[in-house]
Amino acid sequence: MDLKPRKALIILCLLVVILTTFLFVSIRLLARNPDEETWFNHTLRPHLASSPALRTILGLHFDGDARSDYLGTRSVKIIVEIDAESGLTLFPQAEQELVYAMHATTGKEIEIVHSSELTPTPGGYSDNIVVELAEQHQRYHSTHDAAVFYILVLSRSSGDEPIVGRTVQEDAAVIYEDPLSHLPGAQQALAQASTLLHEFGHQLGLPHNDHPGCLMNPEAEAGDFGTGGNLTTQFCAIEQQQLLVIKQTIN
Ligand SMILES: [Zn+2]
Repeated sequence: MDLKPRKALIILCLLVVILTTFLFVSIRLLARNPDEETWFNHTLRPHLASSPALRTILGLHFDGDARSDYLGTRSVKIIVEIDAESGLTLFPQAEQELVYAMHATTGKEIEIVHSSELTPTPGGYSDNIVVELAEQHQRYHSTHDAAVFYILVLSRSSGDEPIVGRTVQEDAAVIYEDPLSHLPGAQQALAQASTLLHEFGHQLGLPHNDHPGCLMNPEAEAGDFGTGGNLTTQFCAIEQQQLLVIKQTIN
């Protein structure tokens, strides 16, 4: 090969590497901006996030980034992987309600899998520890035919507020049992299912609303189940309508 074409080829390769690196770093930075109205988050992010592999590579881990796993046509079933702190568990009724409501919402087969038992952390769990636990213990990951919703069952948050649930990245949730332990058994089971469905709603892309009796009312996440008035295991009519709109943006 002549020296000139060889040089040109090397320069071209270098340019491709520089451009790819620039694009990669730019997208990783844009992916960390929580402002939903940016062009990247509003327009490009949903397309990139529809691929589980790209979510990992590009760091797309906000609520709703995995919505097409759950609502799109690619996956035929959803694996619900549950890891609980030693001595804690979900009520069987809560799991049944969760399976029923997730199937009704997504139309997919729902399979529950119990995997790791976690050693308790004294003093409760910060958001960072929860993410670390999820990364260490989540065994199942979304593939072309199965989506995954990962659940951590823990005692309590390390924060001052007695929260009962949080989303964890784009495909997981944590439920804290201590703030629900004062409820009678049947109501506690309902509160567990309601909390987990609230968090699943976030992972489908639903925002909070302030309508009494709706799943996405933020009072539920704060553990305000005193009167039982907010205990529900079905998305209300407003949320059903929002889910229809979300589904239309997928596929
Ligand atoms: Zn919420």
